[in-house]
Formats: sequence, structure tokens, C-alpha cells
Amino acid sequence: MDVSNLFSLAGSRLKSSKIRELMKLMGQPGIISMAGGSPDAEHFPYEEINAITAAWDERKRALALQYGATGGYGPLLEQIRAYVALGGVSFAGQAVLPTTGAQQSLQLLTRVLTDPGDVVLVEIPAFIGALAAFAGYGAEAVGVELDDQGLPPERLEATIVALRKAGRRIKFLYTNPTFQNPSGLSLTQARRDKVYEVCSKHDILILEDDPYYELYFTGGPSDYRNLKSRDVDNRVVLVNTFSKILSPGLRLGWMTGPEALIARCETAKQSEDACSCSYSQVVAADYLAAGHVPVYTRKMRQVYGGKCRLMLECLEREMPKGVSWSHPAGGFFVWVSLPEHLDSEDLLRASLERKVAFVTGEPFNADGGGKNKLRLAFSNSSREEITTGIARVAEALRSIL
Ligand code: PMP
Repeated sequence: MDVSNLFSLAGSRLKSSKIRELMKLMGQPGIISMAGGSPDAEHFPYEEINAITAAWDERKRALALQYGATGGYGPLLEQIRAYVALGGVSFAGQAVLPTTGAQQSLQLLTRVLTDPGDVVLVEIPAFIGALAAFAGYGAEAVGVELDDQGLPPERLEATIVALRKAGRRIKFLYTNPTFQNPSGLSLTQARRDKVYEVCSKHDILILEDDPYYELYFTGGPSDYRNLKSRDVDNRVVLVNTFSKILSPGLRLGWMTGPEALIARCETAKQSEDACSCSYSQVVAADYLAAGHVPVYTRKMRQVYGGKCRLMLECLEREMPKGVSWSHPAGGFFVWVSLPEHLDSEDLLRASLERKVAFVTGEPFNADGGGKNKLRLAFSNSSREEITTGIARVAEALRSIL
């Protein structure tokens, strides 16, 4: 049977992510992958998780293996509220919903907020998974190009004004202000104030995606305080995840936002997966309660900071003239710009021949640009892999120059 005639509009719109495709390659022997944004598998909190599950009594074991409420496991909700409040977030009128990874938060919010043709404001570049969620519901991602300090508030305001003038309906701004995926850039605190102000002035909802804020290499938490902590009029939905502070395999994230919006997302979630994984929720609740997050993130700041510095040194040493890159103060990624006339897909092909993978820039760019860009993840490669990998990418680059 030819099933392709049966696809719905939404089904036809679906495009496979280049990163997900590359994930298949990464499993091949001998490939050095700087493609996916995977955390460092060597340092997952294996022992802490074992100790947590070993200590469960019969009641907890049953809870962990049973269906749960769509709204989440009570003790986890309490722990999350306390954790989010540490960042200065006030809970008046706010609710929390655990989700199957931050990806599901993006998906649910897009589903309940956008109709086909609605505009979602995004950064250029922006996280592929978010762009895929927006495209999947037929929303149009309109980009605001980042400069070296992240999202420029003036450019954001000019885009809002122009879109409104053209009669377009803007549903929200999607921003990843801290150690952005893919650029590694962070919005300064002064700019965060301004971005909030612009959105307030033009009555724009903000979807703040903040998976990396604990993973800083320089500065401290006050330098990366989120937009949600500035939220005086219920305009920010904060999306967080356990993927970078515990494990992505647990597939557990959450969102914090206006009660009415979270309630709608909870209803949408009922028909998607009924509830987030109970086992993961009980593990995560105990992990937070035991105080593991600050210990783990302190260690991982060192680990990722060291890998990032090494990658920057290797780029400095190996890359030919005309290539530039971001200098992230945290997170997982370095964003590389090749000379304008080069296409990073050609470089990827040449790199794969040398058994190194990364992600090309174009899929991160809502405006179809970014052909000369690429994203390198340093998070899950060993020091040897980073050194060899960058040398091979540089050799591949020389081969196509
Ligand atoms: N948002 C951003 C900015 C990310 O980098 C990622 C993970 N790569 C996600 C969301 C999705 O996270 P999760 O694993 O929790 O679905």
C-alpha cells in the first residue's frame, strides 16, 4: 500500500532533524562525534542514581513503576518549585508541569498557542528542536539575528513593529538566553532587562528555554539570572530540563508559567503520553531532595569548562585564517563561522571521510542562512577526541579551500 497519499498536512510537514540523523552515525565505530549536544557520559551520576533506587521502599517502588497523574508526581513538583525559586522566580499565579524532556514542553506550548500561519519570534540561529516544533504546527518562525552579546533588543523591537504593521499575529518570543544552543552566546543582564521591557511594551509572551544556566565556566549565577525572575506580569514560561543536571536518558523536563497556560498544556499532555515517566520522576525528586544538583553541577562546570578551553585552544592552533568562532562562557557548544563563500555541508562531507561529525549551520537558521556556519559540541568528547577531531576538521577544511 502506498501510505504517502494518506499523510495529513501536519504529517507531510514533518522533516527529520539533521542531528537525529547524525545520531545514527555516531554509533559507528571510530567516529568522533562533535555533533549531538549530549552530556558527558563518563560523569553521569551513576552511583547516586543506584543509591536512590536501592533505598526505595515498597511504596516508592510501586509508584515508580505505576502510571502517574498527568500533572506530575507531588514530591517532584515540590522539589522543582524550591529549585526554581532559588533562581529568584516568584510563584504567585504560576504552576509547574513535568514533561517528557524540555522538547515536550516546546511541543505542548506550540500546540496550545499557535495556529498555522501564526508568527513565533526566534533567534538566528536557534535550537533545531524548537524550530521543528514550530514548523510541525505550521507556525512561521521569524528570526532576529544575534550579535556577539546575544539577542539585540532594538532589533527585536523593530521586528515586532514591522510584523504588526504587516498585520501578522505574533504568538511568542522563543529565546535561549544562556549559553545558547547553537551559538554558545549569552545575553547580558542589562539586555535581559531590555528584552523583557520590549516584550512588556508590545505585550509579547516569552518562552524562555534555559537548559544550560548552571553550567557556567566564568562568572556566577547572578550573571545568568533568567528572564522569568523579572516576570512581574505573567508573561514568561520558563522551560527547564533534567537532561543537563542529571541525565537526558530519563527524558524529564518541566515548565513553569502562568497557571492558565500550564493547565492547558496539561490537558494537551493527557493525549500525548498520559504522564511523564514515573520512574524518572521519583528518581529526580529524590535526587533534588538529596542535594545532588549543586554537587554535580559544580563538578561539571570544571569538566565542561576544561573541554571548552581545550577546544578553543585547538581551534586557535589548527584553523586556517578567515575562520572565527564564539567563546562561550558555559554550556556545550562552539559556533564556528567559515569564510562566507564556503558551505559547511562540503566541510561535513570532507570531515566524515576523516571520521569526524558535527552539525552544519543552516538547519539552525530560520531565514535559510547560516550555510557557512557549523556547531561543534565539546560536551561528550574526550580530550583526545577533541584534539584529534579539531585537527581533522581543520585538515578537511584545507582540503576544500
Ligand atoms: N532546548 C535546548 C536549548 C536544548 O539544547 C535542548 C537539548 N539539546 C532541549 C531544549 C531539549 O532538551 P530535553 O533533552 O530535555 O528534551
